[in-house]
Amino acid sequence: MLRRLFPTDYIDSVFDLDIKDLKEKKIKGLIFDIDNTLAPFDIEYPNKKLINFFKKLKEEGFKICLMSNNTEERVIKFNEKLKVYTIHKAAKPRRRSFKKAMQLMNTNKDSTVIIGDQIFTDVWGGNRVGIMTILVVPISERDEWITKIKRGLEKIIINIYLATRKVER
Ligand SMILES: [Mg+2]
Repeated sequence: MLRRLFPTDYIDSVFDLDIKDLKEKKIKGLIFDIDNTLAPFDIEYPNKKLINFFKKLKEEGFKICLMSNNTEERVIKFNEKLKVYTIHKAAKPRRRSFKKAMQLMNTNKDSTVIIGDQIFTDVWGGNRVGIMTILVVPISERDEWITKIKRGLEKIIINIYLATRKVER
C-alpha cells in the first residue's frame, strides 16, 4: 500500500537527473512540476541555469511538459523562456493531466517520467498512471500553508522508502 507513494528514484535536484540512465530506460518525455521542483513557489521566472538545462534536455531529444496545480498565469509566465508544453491547474494526483501530458509529448507510460517534489501529488499521481517517478528535495523551505502540512507526513514516508531501498540493494 505504502509502495504506491514511493518514487522510482530520489535525487537532490533536477540538475542531478541522470540523462544517460533515462535514455537507457527509453524515456522520451519529461513531466516537470514547477513549484519547489524548478523554482521556489514565489519566484516568477526560471534562472539562467535552468534555462540552459532545459535547452540541453531538448537538444538531447527529450520532450518536456510543465505540469502544475498552480494557476495559468504562474505556468505561462514561467514558461516564457523555456518554451515547452504546459498544463496548469493539473489537479495532481488525478490521472487526467498525466494522460494529457503524454498526449502532448506523444509518449506513453513506459517512455514518460514525472519529476516533482511532492509525494502526494507528483509521485502518487505518477504511480497511479504507471509512469516512472523521480522525487526531488524541495528547493525552498518556503511553502504554501497547505504544502507545509503535508511535509511532516512526507518525511515519514521518505524515511521508510529510503530504509526499504537500502534493504533491497
Ligand atoms: Mg511542487
